[in-house]
Amino acid sequence: MTHPNAQGVSRDLLRRATARFGERFPGEGPRVAVSPGRVNLIGEHTDYNDGFVLPMAIGRAAVIVFRPRADRVLRGHSVAYDETKELALDALSAPGGNDWLSYVAGVFWAFASEGLPLCGLDLVVDGDVPIGAGLSSSAALELATARALAAATGTPWDAVRMAKLGQKAENKYVGMNCGIMDQFASAACEAGHALLLDCRSLETRPVPVPKGAAVVVMDTGARRSLAGSAYNDRRAACERVVAEIANATPGVRALRDVTVDQLETAKPRLDVTDFKRASHVVPENRRPVEAADALQAGDLARAGRLMNDSHFSLRDLYEVSCEELDLVTEIARRQPSCFGARMTGAGFGGCAVALVKTPDVGAFCDAVLTAYEARIDLPAALYPCRPEAGARLLD
Ligand code: ADP
Ligand code: MG
Repeated sequence: MTHPNAQGVSRDLLRRATARFGERFPGEGPRVAVSPGRVNLIGEHTDYNDGFVLPMAIGRAAVIVFRPRADRVLRGHSVAYDETKELALDALSAPGGNDWLSYVAGVFWAFASEGLPLCGLDLVVDGDVPIGAGLSSSAALELATARALAAATGTPWDAVRMAKLGQKAENKYVGMNCGIMDQFASAACEAGHALLLDCRSLETRPVPVPKGAAVVVMDTGARRSLAGSAYNDRRAACERVVAEIANATPGVRALRDVTVDQLETAKPRLDVTDFKRASHVVPENRRPVEAADALQAGDLARAGRLMNDSHFSLRDLYEVSCEELDLVTEIARRQPSCFGARMTGAGFGGCAVALVKTPDVGAFCDAVLTAYEARIDLPAALYPCRPEAGARLLD
């Protein structure tokens, strides 16, 4: 892993992106906007149940190197795809495409849809958030674009508004029905802190991550994406339980509003599998708040236990884990330096996350990777992370 510079982004990445800009768009010195990927520490499948999540921005980011143009044209070059494309700003309409430039153009479209000014830009897109690994390279790209466009047009930076615009771009322009967590984390995180987000009110609380704790993202290499059907099936189960409980208890709008006792009382009226699914969500909805309190108090052992509980619940009750996620978290927990570990993201592959004693993080990564690779023949990778700041301009 390249060493992050003082601004929380890899120096090599910044050098590569600005060099490419110089080749493709020679001229006056460009500006640089960056926005991080994120990992969710706890609170899984809680967003669509109006619950809480606890994401943290990581030291891997999307980078936009940009310079305003005199006309209303967006000309973008992607380092990853080695391709240059153009769009006329006045021709943008939703739905657009879903190629890399659409994540950028979607943000332009979202700005215009809310009456914010646009301007033509030459830009280079680059980044080191692995694509499709569950660390939200797409939200990083949207928020880096928003930061660049806001700077170029003199639009004041409002992280919450920009997170919503990023989500709108992805939902309406790209056509991906994601929640708000990724964009929120990429826009609004503070260095040194995770971000407790109430998915109902959108209130946030920055939560200091103690210096003694390293967060290690463990990419299993498994890319079985959550089959749309399994995701829809889990959502439908949650909705059925809410409908049943709301019959007897007015005011219940989501599993967020349901207590463990209310769920137990309703059990005889619920389908067995639906009850199991809700038995994950109801306690999981509170875990991010408990974990935030534990981190704030410096109680890493408790934060780690909550992460383990979350994993077991996702594995046994929500049934969205898989062999690779179970294995890598089990190996992680066996290391004496590990406080706790869980799958993160929707499930069935992608990444897990562990909370580890900072001085031991190197040995932890070596031991986990070796033991995992002895069992699973997939391109796994471990990323030690510290909490970085959200979308920003570099000077
Ligand atoms: P993720 O889980 O990483 O967010 P998505 O499928 O939601 O995965 O988004 C990935 C898409 O975002 C890519 O296919 C690409 O179009 C775009 N993207 C993300 N990062 C980059 C990048 N560095 N360069 C170009 N396109 C990117
Ligand atoms: Mg995404």
